[in-house]
Formats: sequence, structure tokens, C-alpha cells
Amino acid sequence: MKVTQHIENANGKPLFSFEILPPLKGQNIQSIFDSIDPLMEFNPPFIDVTYHREEYEFKELPSGLLQKKIVKKRPGTVGICAGIQNKYDVDAIPHILCGGFTKEDTENLLIDLDFLGIDNVVALRGDALKNEIYFRPEKEGNEYASELVTQIHNLNKGIYLDEDLQNSSCTNFCIGVAGYPEKHMEAPSVDSDIHFLKQKIKNGADYIITQMFFDNKRFFDFVAKCRAAGITVPIIPGLKPIATKKQLNLIPHRFKVDLPDELIMAVVKAKDNEAVKEIGVEWCVEQSKGLVAAGFPVLHYYSMGKAENIKAIAKEVF
Ligand code: FAD
Repeated sequence: MKVTQHIENANGKPLFSFEILPPLKGQNIQSIFDSIDPLMEFNPPFIDVTYHREEYEFKELPSGLLQKKIVKKRPGTVGICAGIQNKYDVDAIPHILCGGFTKEDTENLLIDLDFLGIDNVVALRGDALKNEIYFRPEKEGNEYASELVTQIHNLNKGIYLDEDLQNSSCTNFCIGVAGYPEKHMEAPSVDSDIHFLKQKIKNGADYIITQMFFDNKRFFDFVAKCRAAGITVPIIPGLKPIATKKQLNLIPHRFKVDLPDELIMAVVKAKDNEAVKEIGVEWCVEQSKGLVAAGFPVLHYYSMGKAENIKAIAKEVF
């Protein structure tokens, strides 16, 4: 079922959902099920599975020369989605990227997903590769998520890349896109970012799911700006509980989001990571309760494969 349909059917009751990462190459799919099982009691209508493109690594040869190696550390997004839908009564939502895909690759991926009975996708651009400053699309690929949305929306209307295939079978994907309450790291301003976010909606996206944030006021301001810009689709807040002291530096660096001083000082003063986990859960519970009170239809948690703290939050909120 489509995310938009789940929201409609819930009749205002807040829904719980979460995101997982495929395991590192070499691990078993059981590790994924082990991270989902403890959260099923909260009846998530859908679970997102991230996509990880290949990366370039340089390996030093005995001669001292550097050999460029292409590695895909977390493959398996599509297989995991199929596995989840097979095992649980839940919709699995693969994230799909512009980066690393030609438009033809994307079309073939969408056909696979459709055949697997997957009704939803999240359409993303993807980040620049580690050794690149700017994101570079494939030669025959989509450059921005808005173009990827157009491609998916076209396939929903039976418009394939090959003109000879017109009037063929249509897909029927519900399309989610990313939004950034504190703006995307490359965007020159919040307003320009919202301008391009609106483009994704105009091109056919059905809902927005946001980057993590730790201050609800930033999210509420973002939503108000989206609404003022004429964006009317559901906006799903993304939440992550802090779990380690290291994340105080990692999260702002990696995701370009601010942490409130009160949260920072509480984590700094915590005696160990067990205490940090408790602080992270408490903070996230307060955020979640504020979002439920404000009437947001779904709360989406970045579980990163760690169920324990998400379960502690869900127990208090759902
Ligand atoms: P876009 O919407 O294309 O925007 C990228 C930048 O370009 C923005 O600054 C925007 O303002 C600007 N822009 C957009 N259109 C135009 C235009 N026409 N002209 C000029 N500028 C423009 N990454 C992964 O690799 N795998 C994942 O599974 C994944 N999941 C994610 C889930 C969520 C909820 C979020 C918030 C992010 C996720 N990401 C993931 C990270 C994401 O791929 C990066 O943040 C990426 O840098 C931007 O993706 P986007 O879809 O927001 O890009």
C-alpha cells in the first residue's frame, strides 16, 4: 500500500516508521530481521531501506603504486525490501538514487521493484563520492532528484525511455523525496532549497521525509515555509536519538545539522555512552511528543540498525 494511503487510513492517529541500512557486505540478512523484530510491536506501516552506491578506494600494492578499487560496502537494498515484505506485514520502501545510475538502469530497477510488489520509493540524488567535491551524475543519468521523480512519474503513466514501448504496462509508485529543515548542505539558502523541493513535488512526488533535526522549532519553521511556498503534501519528520559522545561531532559534520546547546551540554556531562543513550532517548521522546501534539501524521526514526533505543522511544510515544 502507498504511504499516502497509510496516512489516510490512520485517520489522524500518528504512525511509527523507521529506516534501516543494509548490512555490511559479508553479513547475513538475519542481522536485518534482528533489528526489525523488536520494533514490530509498534505496527510500522512501512520501513525504509537506504541505498548505498559504490565507492572508490585506493589500495597500496607491494610495488608502492596505488590501485583504484571500486567497492560496494552495503549492497542488497532491493533484496532486503523483498525479504522484509515476504516476512512481515509491512511495506518496504527502497531509496533510489540518481548517482551511479543511467536512466536506463533506473528504469530497469523500477521494473524489478514493481515485479516485487513494492508500491513506494524514495527518490534521492545521492551525495558526491568521497574523493569528489561535487556530485557528478552518470553520463546518461539524472542530475537532480527532481529529474528522477519525473522519470518515476512518467513510468507511472506508462512512459518508458524507449518510444516504441509506449502504451505498455504502467507502474504505480508512491514517491517520497527528501526535505531539509536546516537546508541541504549545498543549498545557498533555505528559500532556494525549498524552491527546488517544490519542483520535486510539481514533478510528481507525493510526500516529503526530512533529514534529522534536534530542535522542533527548526522543523516547524521549515514546514511553515513549505506551506507558504504552496507545498501541500504530507511532511514526515525524521528523528534520530543521540547514542554516543562521538556523535556530537559526527552528526553536525556528516549531516550539516545543529545540535541545541542544552543537548550538547547534557551529553558532554554524561559519564559514559550508556548515560548518553538515556539522554538521547529522553530528548527524542520530548521531540516526538511535541510533533504528535502538533498533528504530524508519521514519525520516522533513523534506527541505523539499532533497535533498542528506538524501542524505548516508541514505548513512550505510541
Ligand atoms: P536534490 O533534491 O537533487 O537536491 C540536491 C541539491 O541541489 C540541493 O542543495 C538543492 O537545493 C539543489 N537543487 C535541486 N535542484 C536543483 C536545480 N535544478 N538546480 C540547481 N540546484 C538544484 N543518500 C544515499 O546515498 N542513500 C540513501 O538511502 C539516502 N537516504 C536519504 C534519506 C533522507 C530522508 C534524506 C534527507 C537524505 C538521504 N540521503 C541518502 C542523502 C541524500 O542523497 C543527500 O542529502 C544528497 O546530497 C541530496 O539528495 P536530494 O535528493 O535531497 O537532492
